[in-house]
Amino acid sequence: RYPLSALGQKMLRLTGVREIMRDIETATAAPSARPWINLSAGNPLVVPELERLWHGIARRLPSAEFGEVIGRYGSSRGYGPFLDTLAADLNVRYGWNISPRNLLVTPGSQTLFFILINLFAGAMSDGSRRRVLLPMSPEYTGYEGVTLDADTLASTRPAVETDGAHTFRYRIDPHDLVIGEDVGALLISRPGNPTGMVIPDAALEQLAGRAAQAQVPLIVDSAYGLPYPALNRVAMRPLFDSHVVHCMSFSKAGLPGARIGVAVADEAVIEAALSFLSNMNIHAPRLGQALVAQAIHDGSLDAVCRTVVGPLYAAKAQRLQALLREHLDGLPWRLHSTDGGLFGWLWLEDLPIDDLTLYARAKAAHVFVVPGSFFFVGLRGQWRHARECLRVSLTASDADLDEGVRRLAGVIRAAYDET
Ligand code: PLP
Repeated sequence: RYPLSALGQKMLRLTGVREIMRDIETATAAPSARPWINLSAGNPLVVPELERLWHGIARRLPSAEFGEVIGRYGSSRGYGPFLDTLAADLNVRYGWNISPRNLLVTPGSQTLFFILINLFAGAMSDGSRRRVLLPMSPEYTGYEGVTLDADTLASTRPAVETDGAHTFRYRIDPHDLVIGEDVGALLISRPGNPTGMVIPDAALEQLAGRAAQAQVPLIVDSAYGLPYPALNRVAMRPLFDSHVVHCMSFSKAGLPGARIGVAVADEAVIEAALSFLSNMNIHAPRLGQALVAQAIHDGSLDAVCRTVVGPLYAAKAQRLQALLREHLDGLPWRLHSTDGGLFGWLWLEDLPIDDLTLYARAKAAHVFVVPGSFFFVGLRGQWRHARECLRVSLTASDADLDEGVRRLAGVIRAAYDET
């Protein structure tokens, strides 16, 4: 209706996953005799133990504290008791030496990535331009949505290693990474979305070393990692030093609606991000922070993540692997070694059709997955592998996973049979 700014236009563009979310809404709105199965969702499973935990703490919250967190504005950094509890928890767990001055709470970690990407990349005050380099590709598509310009992200092609009959791994060599003068930050998710890969501790340390050499921050997105929600299925150690920004989210620990993201970083980085947040949001919502402070303090969040949530997704990952083995027998499929996270990342070697066509055909069979090419920022047109992959969500019920993979496998087999 009204003319939009260039930024407004850019923000309205449908990025890959948003396009699919809209597609799902449209498709499932029409009456259909055949049930739809959604294996594309990033929404975490509703875990009864987590629901009970959060509901119980909310009910026990003293009324004075309730009044304080919803009836007053607070500090832009975050809710004091939450900051104190989290700093102490991280120090005990990892031997760090952080204080609340190293922390910033944002309304979800997506907002944190908006802030960090636009702090370190884009038009610089000296007239030059800087970009954020993703050492890994495929990588979380949500980073693309928060850039203000189209070419703010650059990514690197990893080596592809086959490590079993039906498994593979990406590998990045931090020594080979070219960090030019136009790079303002490095950014990697760990465990990764979509791959589930946990970059090994040693490689992460090497990446941090490269970042330090280049005088840029290494941003580590730990939305699925330690200490919460701890969806890693291999041993890993979070890293913190003066060049690392460790980013947390409580969304996958049962609080996606509470919107809690946290940056752990050098005080100077936190101060810059805090000013940005203060201008934009004043501060993050505080009710959820009050709940999390309790659940960290009494150890209940740690217990539920370790004994319920982690094992739940580990079982889903195993189920997916078994289903693929059963239904894709004889075909050249490979699943990325699933070190953690919410997704299965499927590579269909030499697939005769591209991933978008496969997505459309799966949709015709009433099953949604996410076409892999969306995750290869900057490499989509340049690498055949980028058009041979699919992301399958582990957040479906067992029955939906079983039926969805059966339908998907039928479509995949038909595509290979065409040649
Ligand atoms: N990072 C990764 C890797 C994600 O997958 C997501 C959401 O799914 C986010 C960040 C953003 O999560 P939130 O804003 O809920 O913290």
